[in-house]
Amino acid sequence: MKALLYHGPRDIRYGSVADPAFKDDRDAIVKMERCGICGSDLHIYHGEGFSPDLGFCVGHEAIGEVVEAGRGVRKLKPGDRVMLSAAVGCGSCEMCLAGHITRCLNNQMQCYGLSANLQGCQAEAIRVPAADFNAHPIPEGLTPDQALMLTDNLPTAWFGLQGAEIAPGKTVVVVGLGPIGLMAVEGAYVMGASRVFAVDLVAERRARAETLGATALHPDQTMAAIAEATKGRMADCAVECVGADATINLAMGLVGRSGAVSVIGVNQTRQFSFPMGMAFFKGLTFRIGTCSVQDTWRALVPLIRQGRLHPEKFVSHTMPLSEGADAYRLFDARKDGALKMVMTA
Ligand SMILES: [Zn+2]
Ligand SMILES: [Zn+2]
Repeated sequence: MKALLYHGPRDIRYGSVADPAFKDDRDAIVKMERCGICGSDLHIYHGEGFSPDLGFCVGHEAIGEVVEAGRGVRKLKPGDRVMLSAAVGCGSCEMCLAGHITRCLNNQMQCYGLSANLQGCQAEAIRVPAADFNAHPIPEGLTPDQALMLTDNLPTAWFGLQGAEIAPGKTVVVVGLGPIGLMAVEGAYVMGASRVFAVDLVAERRARAETLGATALHPDQTMAAIAEATKGRMADCAVECVGADATINLAMGLVGRSGAVSVIGVNQTRQFSFPMGMAFFKGLTFRIGTCSVQDTWRALVPLIRQGRLHPEKFVSHTMPLSEGADAYRLFDARKDGALKMVMTA
């Protein structure tokens, strides 16, 4: 089959790779219909990935059609259109069954497309482990792009908002306005935020946040602007969607007393220098991690259906998988309004 393969820094190629095959009778093979490029895929693209492997298939967001289901698959059958969770769990332990794949007791939580271990979703076909659990029929009434945004981006934004303890009346700041950051801005209002500040270097992205009702700020002006707007109290909640040391520090500086900071951007610094004094003085809550995607669907599917959340509107480009190398280049350069890149089979 054809897939996007990582051959080294800034070298992702559309090439041939072996068709996916069953490793377990609970696996299913899914023919990709649509897949996305995530901001975290850029870490791999830049050569700062999660494994030294080369030649593996990248990507962790996809929807598609079940073409083969193992003997142990009970809920899905060939022909079903499904959305995949970007991260998979064993699907049989107590924690997975309760929806917490990040706490999988069999230590089988993994993500597609980070190494040769579990091949990625930017491919014509995908092996889905424990398919009954890690894939879900696309809910009725959802468009393909809406379903695709439920495989990673919107659940991650939602998880970030929950970690930042958004509640009615809170003042929220979102740092980093890629697709996940913009989804966090929209989601913050759904959770009852009274005011949302949205921070990014890119003017185009700040303008997008303003259309959602946020007060958009350049990082350089953020500290003074939020201090003035809140009479020195600063924000109650911060969602950090970049993962760089500087933006994590900024987010911690932007919340006031008893503030909560939730980091969902991927940080690959081995040793982050944590501002203990400031955190102590403020009584800060700091959370970091990734979400159990499946666990968010119960809340997010009805919110999309009822038009409260519109994750699909952040899709800026839809291109064929065969042009995936160009899609990466555009996305990396943030050119041509590149925001959310979607590829079709
Ligand atoms: Zn992702
Ligand atoms: Zn498990």
